[in-house]
Parts: sequence; structure tokens; C-alpha cells
Amino acid sequence: MRRKMAAGNWKMNGSAAALDMIDALSSAHSDNACDIVICPPAHLLTAACDRAGNGPVAIGAQNCHAAEKGAHTGDIAAAMIAETGARYVITGHSERRETYGETDASVCDRSAAAQASGLVPVVCIGESLAQREAGEALPVIRAQLAASVPDGSTGDTLVVAYEPIWAIGTGKIPTLEQIGEVHAALRADLVARFGAEGEKIRLLYGGSVKPGNAAEIFGTADVDGALVGGASLSADDFSPIIAALAAS
Ligand code: PEP
Repeated sequence: MRRKMAAGNWKMNGSAAALDMIDALSSAHSDNACDIVICPPAHLLTAACDRAGNGPVAIGAQNCHAAEKGAHTGDIAAAMIAETGARYVITGHSERRETYGETDASVCDRSAAAQASGLVPVVCIGESLAQREAGEALPVIRAQLAASVPDGSTGDTLVVAYEPIWAIGTGKIPTLEQIGEVHAALRADLVARFGAEGEKIRLLYGGSVKPGNAAEIFGTADVDGALVGGASLSADDFSPIIAALAAS
């Protein structure tokens, strides 16, 4: 049985005041029914970890460098993130792949560095609209999975997020059949590669998850939770998504 996870990606949003949301989520979801992760911008990581304490909300970063240290101005190493008390890091988000030219290979290196530092990478993969319309979604996503995920990954050391690029921040989502088809294919590939551990690796869906569509998405086979952008910026939106996940 895989433990469900609702992860919020704040992207380049949030301030010290926004961390009040962690208190709101901690008291609303003290039943610990599923894993809750907030990924704020890097400058808030330490304060967010302090605020979360030992409560139900864990903290994650939005990216890490593959190297341990060195001349990488503006970057942050996985061990540095771990030092803040954070437990997760998003790797390979499509915004980083598109804007900074991150490749499957570099995502794999970042994810391996995260695992080596005791962080759990949330590895993002997903097709563009042109790839979806050309009927290439499945081969594209499966190739990304194969090349972005480090060898030796287990259910405890890896989370995968399927995020169709065209669904991120657009209000559009794939049909439930399309989500189910992708998650089934990813599950099969994870099991083929990692054996029994492949059954334990959580598969999140991401892309315009909102309170109004969360329950139907979470009712889809092999969807173990969500990576949420816009709707993770307020407890009013994120809390009902967490509740829908806990009830699924
Ligand atoms: C994301 O950026 O990972 C994301 C899923 O964003 P949104 O929920 O806003 O579509």
C-alpha cells in the first residue's frame, strides 16, 4: 500500500508571511492521513522547516545542483537543502527543463545527488501538447522516466510526478482515461526496472489540480497523489485537495 502524497510547488511565490499556511495545514490535517509537502522558494526553506516542526507538513526544495559544492553561482547543493531540514526536492520540473535546458541526464544526476544526501527527489516528467496531439505522449514520457530516474531507486527514495506540460497553469487537464493510461504505463516500467520496489514508488499527477477536480483525479488507478502549483498557494485551495486525497 503506497502512502498518498499532496505536494505543493510554490514556484517563485511566497514570503515569510505566507508560512502561516503551514500552521493552517498542520492543524487542519493533524490526522496525518497522507503525506503533505510544501516546496517554497529556497530563501524560506529553513523558516518553513522550523514552522513545520514534527507536524504533518514536510518541506521540499524546487531544484538542486548535482555537484556537492563549487563555483555554481546561484545554485544550491542537495546537502545544503538537507541541512535546512527539508526532506524532498523537485527535480526536472518542465519550467526548468524549458527555461534552463535541463535534460533527462542532468535531472537524473540531480536526483541521484538528492538521494545521496538523504532527500527524496520528486522527478517530474510529461509531454508537450504537440507530442500529445502527435500521439507520442506515451513513448515520450516513458523515455523521460527511463533516463531521468536514478538506478537503485526504491519506494522510500523516489517519487515520480506525471505533469503534462500543457496542463500546468492552464486549467486544462487530460481525461481521466489519459491519466490512467500514463500512470499504468509508468507503473509497468517501474516494476520492470525495479521489481517489487517499483510497486512502492509513488506516482503523482500534476497539472491544474484544483479542489473541484481533485476527487475524480484521485479516483484514478495508480494516482498516488498530486503535485500542485497554483492551488497550493492558499490553505483555502490546498486543504480541500488534501482532504480529497485522504478520502480517496
Ligand atoms: C506545477 O507547476 O507543478 C503545477 C502542477 O502547476 P499548476 O497546479 O498550477 O498547474
